[in-house]
Amino acid sequence: MSKILVTGAAGFLGSHLAYQLIQKGHQIIGIDNLSSGRLDNVLPLMETGRFLFIPFDITSHHVLTLDALAGIEEIYHLASPASPKFYQSLPFGTIAVNTIGTSFMLELAKTNNAKIVYTSTSEAYGDPQVHPQQEDYRGNVNTWGPRACYDESKRLGEVYCYEYFHRYQVPVKVARIFNTYSAGLQNDDGRVISNFVTQALRQTEITVYGDGSQTRSFCYVDDTILALQLMMENDSANGEIINIGNPSDYSILEVAKLVQKLTRSSSPITFRPLPEDDPKLRRPVIDKAKKLLDWQPKVSLEEGLNRTIAVYRTQNTDKKGILL
Ligand code: UDP
Repeated sequence: MSKILVTGAAGFLGSHLAYQLIQKGHQIIGIDNLSSGRLDNVLPLMETGRFLFIPFDITSHHVLTLDALAGIEEIYHLASPASPKFYQSLPFGTIAVNTIGTSFMLELAKTNNAKIVYTSTSEAYGDPQVHPQQEDYRGNVNTWGPRACYDESKRLGEVYCYEYFHRYQVPVKVARIFNTYSAGLQNDDGRVISNFVTQALRQTEITVYGDGSQTRSFCYVDDTILALQLMMENDSANGEIINIGNPSDYSILEVAKLVQKLTRSSSPITFRPLPEDDPKLRRPVIDKAKKLLDWQPKVSLEEGLNRTIAVYRTQNTDKKGILL
């Protein structure tokens, strides 16, 4: 049994991960400032008796002296808004958590001799000019736009990881996570899968931004969570940046049509303006994850969507199965 810290434990990925770690018998301390995470996500974890929740902002230096974190063995640093809708409404909090927050988590790892996984993002590649994206591609990122608070702060977080690895030999691993989904995304999350499934089940318009030709690679949450744990367990991932994502990409219009088909929805597809700096292509090369972690995603988009739709249908639907 290990004593493990999960930052962002009230979020989509953090709560899934904490649940998995509890199932394996570990003692989890979850920290979240609840800016985009939800208390609803942690209440079931608290009932297990193996989860301590600390509502706290990890950008405060007091995090370094919290008694509860003494002797921590592993840190999964997931705290950060990740949906464009949330990070664009909280730009300064997003920048702070990915930079100052990351430096504090690395400092905690250093003082406790703990291992740490930092969750970076495919957004580190910006609007890529190389496709698909391999870890050594340096990206095409814009400092002067609405996505910069997320992309650039995640990149600076990686820089902190580099320095702590090279100066202090902190066993840090950097996961560049590509689009992840499941029914754990709330209806109002704003990301594409939750939007499309909610719209299809509500029989309202499915809103494709732009002409829908932009691509994304969608990884089911269970696959992503497993990869993060393998990174933690595997010493060969120390000091490495590793893409975690599904190596098949779909155009957003294809996703809209697939959701329409799988939900048997009569929702029409409508087109809205493409948000500024929306990346046109995104697909990971996952050779490194295969080699170092013996990992690749198992859940196809169709299967993952079916699972997502099944759960969404049971939440707040009327007798005809229409989402309220
Ligand atoms: N998107 C869309 N309709 C929506 C929500 C998103 O067409 O209702 C598009 C968005 O413009 C982007 C892609 O879907 O091209 C993925 O968006 P998301 O916000 O899920 O994540 P991103 O990869 O952009 O961070």
